[in-house]
Amino acid sequence: MNLQDTFGSLVFNDAVMRQRLPKETYRALHRTIAEGKSLNPQVASVVANTMKDWAIEKGATHYTHWFQPMTGITAEKHDSFLSPIEGGGAIMEFSGKELVRGEPDASSFPSGGLRATFEARGYTAWDPTSYAFIKDGTLCIPTAFCSWGGQALDKKTPLLRSNEALNRQVKRILRLLGHPDVKKVTATVGPEQEYFLIDRDLYSKRKDLIFTGRTLFGARPPKGQELDDHYFGNLKPRVAAFMREVDEELWKLGVSAKTEHNEVAPCQHELAPIFTTSNIATDHNQLTMEIMKRVAAKHGFACLLHEKPFAGVNGSGKHNNWSMSTDTGLNLLEPGETPAENAQFLLFLVAVIKAVDLHQDLLRISVASAGNDHRLGGNEAPPAIISMFLGDELQAILDAIEHHSAYIAGEKMDMNIGVTTLPRIPKDTTDRNRTSPFAFTGNKFEFRSPGASMSIAEANVVINTIVADVLMGFADQLEAAVDIRATVEQLVVDTITNHKRIIFNGNNYAEEWKKEAQERGLLNLPSTPDALPYLITDENVALFERQRVYTRQELHSRYDVQLENYCKVISIEAHTMLDIVNKEIIPAISAYSGNVARDGADKRRLLPDVEPVYEQKLLRRLTGLINEIGAHNEALHEAIQALDDLPADPLAQARHCRDCVFKRMQELRALADEAESIVDEKLWPFPGYGELLTTK
Ligand code: ADP
Ligand code: MG
Repeated sequence: MNLQDTFGSLVFNDAVMRQRLPKETYRALHRTIAEGKSLNPQVASVVANTMKDWAIEKGATHYTHWFQPMTGITAEKHDSFLSPIEGGGAIMEFSGKELVRGEPDASSFPSGGLRATFEARGYTAWDPTSYAFIKDGTLCIPTAFCSWGGQALDKKTPLLRSNEALNRQVKRILRLLGHPDVKKVTATVGPEQEYFLIDRDLYSKRKDLIFTGRTLFGARPPKGQELDDHYFGNLKPRVAAFMREVDEELWKLGVSAKTEHNEVAPCQHELAPIFTTSNIATDHNQLTMEIMKRVAAKHGFACLLHEKPFAGVNGSGKHNNWSMSTDTGLNLLEPGETPAENAQFLLFLVAVIKAVDLHQDLLRISVASAGNDHRLGGNEAPPAIISMFLGDELQAILDAIEHHSAYIAGEKMDMNIGVTTLPRIPKDTTDRNRTSPFAFTGNKFEFRSPGASMSIAEANVVINTIVADVLMGFADQLEAAVDIRATVEQLVVDTITNHKRIIFNGNNYAEEWKKEAQERGLLNLPSTPDALPYLITDENVALFERQRVYTRQELHSRYDVQLENYCKVISIEAHTMLDIVNKEIIPAISAYSGNVARDGADKRRLLPDVEPVYEQKLLRRLTGLINEIGAHNEALHEAIQALDDLPADPLAQARHCRDCVFKRMQELRALADEAESIVDEKLWPFPGYGELLTTK
């Protein structure tokens, strides 16, 4: 395979456009992409036609508007390029109108009440800032999905708006700091994706994995991840073949998958792409998850993207690496070489610090889901408390700035910002704190709380918006300032002083941190129902409206959708549990106790003088377990039924799911796991952890 020919071969990217579009059209489209200028319909027509010809040459027969409804996965509705012509026959057609706007029959996507029935259709609108691509013989056109009233029904629309917000505010700052040439600022994102690969035959024997993506039962195996022998260990040949094919498929789609290695847990791996714009990175991450699942099936694997597929084994997350860069090639979180660059770096750095401190709630909400709640705070992923890690070096610099004192790094220095050069801040220092939810890693921040199965859209919407909002305040102050340099310095000092409580360089997994965080006044929101109410507070509505990212109505719809989704996930899990307990687990325990009873009776008959003590004891334990499991099964059933009697308030329902349904599920699981550990394994109805977590 020739990488140069493969990479992006199925993408209608800039190179293809430049080569195939008339010069004028290319320039107009490029202006739209690079500067956000609106596109005129004639240009769209020419682009559509060229896109169609290119796609047909590549073997495509259909096209689809590819979009990301609030379900978190992607949706497509395929249409053929063929248009019938009068007198029979057909021609291949694809108009500018069809490129720019689609009307999927999308009334069953969640809208949180945003779409009244009369406007139930919603429409999709072409997003020219993410390239079209061919997947399975279909030209996929990345699109936003809105109601006729213009309300966002998807994840892309707010992301694009938040990029705009960030662009507006950063440009104001850069103009003041001597970069009038910057036309566009984009958030850059590189999401590292964790996942599990398990054998597909074993997977298909477990209804819990099939229906819910995680194991609802499973006794601890004798060997788990205790030995840490999987981390960065050798790849098994079958896994290596899977990775190679994933890479190749992703490269064709222009996704620059780069590194893959084993993670901490057995059967766990990670894929990291090279960063790109937050919009494209979000689309690419959706594609990555889809391709990984598909290629896994081809290689006899199931790819698990659930945040917590196995109890007692590390779960999977997504590390959202984030920075800002300009069309002139500056990474705004790159510590500079000159005093002026350093002042600028420090200003953006403290802006992020302030943003994270002020909006812990929104960052927590952006990663809230039933699946991710298992992971956050489980001593394997950052806690539900949001804090930041800066590292010793940067911390020392900020301390020095705050106290106007000299920073000692081999030599004494005067820490007047804008006058001196900062000492070099080492990138990728090896002792990076991997327990921190939001870590500075040399020239970017790494938000480590997102869950493995989620879209990264929300996390980036929040980061972009909160940073834009802080920069808006900074820009207001700087624009009114007489002495810009002195004002920058004051802003940096004041911001560190006022927001340093959010910085925590210690061990986030430690129990003491919870106490300390509380003393610092930081939020601790362990579950989704704890976090979601913050989404619709007056301050947050005002923030999102001010930055033109969400309207009040849109926020309320998302609040409903997210809570409903939480309830749905837990209900599906609970129903799956009942099903497995009734049809598989109780019969298995019954069968085994039958065997034990028969054995005991046989022995008694053959050896009347020996009491079958062991069988009796075991039988008693098994009978006790069946009784208890039966009772807990009923209790779980009742807890699900009780949902129907609750008011239609999504928060009340979500709390019930957490406090009642989920609690019962855990109790039931504990009993079933105990049974698994004593029942004859030949009778146990599905493969256990030991088998699942050993890839051959
Ligand atoms: P790790 O955390 O595993 O050590 P690396 O430092 O190798 O990871 O890279 C992490 C991710 O950060 C990669 O996906 C990389 O492309 C991304 N990244 C690097 N620079 C930036 C940047 N300026 N903006 C956004 N993402 C970036
Ligand atoms: Mg990482």
